[in-house]
Amino acid sequence: MMSETISKPSVAILGLGIMGSGMAHRLLSANFPLAVYNRNREKCIPFASAGAFLADSPHAAASRSQIILSMVADDAASRDVWMGDEGAMNGAQGGSILIESSTLSGDWIQELASKAAERGCQFLDAPVTGTKPHAASGELLFLVGGSEEALNAARPVFSVLGRDTVHLGPTGSGTLMKLVNNFVCGVQAASFAEAVSMIDAGGLDRAKAMTILTGGAPGSGIVKRVAERIAANDFTPNFALRWMAKDLSYALRDAATKGISLQTAAAALAVFQRAIAEGHGDEDFSAVSKSSKQPAHS
Ligand code: NAP
Repeated sequence: MMSETISKPSVAILGLGIMGSGMAHRLLSANFPLAVYNRNREKCIPFASAGAFLADSPHAAASRSQIILSMVADDAASRDVWMGDEGAMNGAQGGSILIESSTLSGDWIQELASKAAERGCQFLDAPVTGTKPHAASGELLFLVGGSEEALNAARPVFSVLGRDTVHLGPTGSGTLMKLVNNFVCGVQAASFAEAVSMIDAGGLDRAKAMTILTGGAPGSGIVKRVAERIAANDFTPNFALRWMAKDLSYALRDAATKGISLQTAAAALAVFQRAIAEGHGDEDFSAVSKSSKQPAHS
């Protein structure tokens, strides 16, 4: 058992939210030497008894690790954990592998990759599909941008955290794929939320209507997930609604830099922003179905 532990790379997880905490538990179960950092230190405490090193700063977590993986909210959070006063970048040793698994903007990923190169580190953008239970059970899908060499070095970690890893191309490719993925998910969730309003306003039987939609052509995985949450009246977050809005806004920005206007993403973002304004931002993204709808123009 001891030699098994020694042969595994040391890992730091920065961010113990819904996704990062599941990933950290997986690595501990697989006996990886693990350092954890979270801004709110209370979330670190359960990991101490499982053998993790509780770092006071991203710098402290990074300086003792060969592979450093960040799983935080958004660009601002990523900037803080990597480049803040006690950030991971200055703690990382040359040659270590830096992985950004949060869903972030393409611009920030490119900037972060340059900073990693200046530091003499390898960098991968590796956002994921899958949600809370997939993080906890090691069934995420990693969408990877960066060099083959860095990816191969990170494979021992990806294979414990994910069911598969897809190499999409150079730096930023994983992020672009993830933003496209979530843009399509966000549009479907927003349109389904509007469909529910139409069903209610027209006096149709909700249960019958849901069965028809989820069992027919519109019944995508995302539509089914929203329908299940509506049926259970349970909006405990697996994926917070405000992060779906964040992903739609990053997708819009990224597409604009490529000269493309994502009309459906813009419309979906407005639906999500309305839900946030009504206080649903911290609930599961499926709570978009609870938001009141834009009245029709006469
Ligand atoms: P979450 O539960 O809200 O956790 C967010 C994490 O970011 C927490 O650890 C939080 O620390 C940290 N954070 C926020 N602002 C920070 C700052 N300024 N400095 C340092 N740390 C900061 O989110 P999540 O669901 O785990 O999602 C994490 C990332 O994965 C997001 O980019 C999300 O879009 C993406 N993602 C999520 C899912 C999903 O289903 N949940 C699926 C795929 C991808 P505190 O605890 O101190 O607030």
